[in-house]
Amino acid sequence: MVEKVKKTDDEWKKSLSPEEYKVLREKDTESAFTGSLLHNERTGVYRCAGCGSVLFRSDTKFDSGSGWPSFFEPKSEDAIEKKMDRSLPVPRTEILCAKCGGHLGHVFDDGPAPTGLRYCVNSAALHFEDKEDK
Ligand code: FE
Repeated sequence: MVEKVKKTDDEWKKSLSPEEYKVLREKDTESAFTGSLLHNERTGVYRCAGCGSVLFRSDTKFDSGSGWPSFFEPKSEDAIEKKMDRSLPVPRTEILCAKCGGHLGHVFDDGPAPTGLRYCVNSAALHFEDKEDK
C-alpha cells in the first residue's frame, strides 16, 4: 500500500503553482504542445508535482506526437491509480498519483511496445529530476 498524502484545497493552493493546481486538483488539461517537459530528453525521473512520488522514468518516455509528455509504462504499477472518466462521450481511463490523488492525465491503448500503452501526462503534473543512475 502506498502511504497517502491528504491536504485541504487551501493547503494545495498554497503548495502548488496555479497551473499545477488546475491540473492536479481540478483535472484541467494543459494545451497541447505547451508543456515544459514535452521535449525533455534528459536522463532521470519524473515526480508528481503534488507530492514528489516517482511516477515515470526517462527511458520509458517517447514522442507520441500528441503534444503531451508520453510514457509507455509507469515507474511501478502501484505508483499510479486508474479510474474510468466519462466526462466525454468516449470514455477514457484517467490516471492519478496513487499517493496524493492528483490528476495526471489519461492512459490509452495505442502506445508502443513493450506495453502497447500510452500514458499521456500533463507537464504541469510532473517535476523532472536529473539522475544518471536509474
Ligand atoms: Fe502525488
